[in-house]
Amino acid sequence: MTERPYVVGNWKMNGTRAMLSEARAIDRSSQRLMKVEVALAPPFTLIHAVHKEAAQLAIGAQDCHTDEDGARTGDISAAMVADAGAKFVILGHSERREGHGETDALVRKKAEAALAAGLRLIICCGESEQVRDAGAAEDFVTTQLRGSLPDSIEDAGANLSVAYEPIWAIGTGRTPTVSDIGAMHRAIRALLVERFGEDEGAAIRILYGGSVNPDNANELLAADEVGGALVGGASLAAESFLGIVVAA
Ligand code: PEP
Repeated sequence: MTERPYVVGNWKMNGTRAMLSEARAIDRSSQRLMKVEVALAPPFTLIHAVHKEAAQLAIGAQDCHTDEDGARTGDISAAMVADAGAKFVILGHSERREGHGETDALVRKKAEAALAAGLRLIICCGESEQVRDAGAAEDFVTTQLRGSLPDSIEDAGANLSVAYEPIWAIGTGRTPTVSDIGAMHRAIRALLVERFGEDEGAAIRILYGGSVNPDNANELLAADEVGGALVGGASLAAESFLGIVVAA
């Protein structure tokens, strides 16, 4: 596994130009925290501005369309976000799977389109509380991920990260135990090795996401096979996001 942890902020549908000062502050401080790779996924409307104003920060998008261009009112292609300055894209977030009916097959098509546009991927997966209570979390997550990943990815260790985000932990203040996170990340690692081979599969970073904050980051990120964090709410303010980066 890559030694350098990867901490990614997901601003979701938050942020106008007034929030550029937070991005600048994250950029400035993360330049001093070289042991951690820090990245930010603002809404589409801010990608270009954050790319310009926070020049050292890797900027990403939170989604992209499967097609390169065409009659798709309201959609944004991978080539367009790359042109705006994005270097990666988050795909298959549970808020898109649940709110927009995105299937594993669609996530996989989007991933293929994103790779073709030169973007790195963060593919999300995670179970509902009902699935976890039924004791089926590992089966559910590995099946979901198997269907969402492209068959092959050139230099998968560099171009792919997976984010394990239990749906019931997102924005709720609740988190799985360190032991449950470790068990899920080991199951995901086994799948990645099976799909991409021993070396590449071992190099792909598996992020944990779901109510990570500066107080719990140290403990959660120490779980087995955790290579960083995908952070929602706590990434909206530079102070709390940087607290997580320092803990990583
Ligand atoms: C997320 O939705 O990617 C996320 C991890 O959110 P939060 O940190 O707010 O739980």
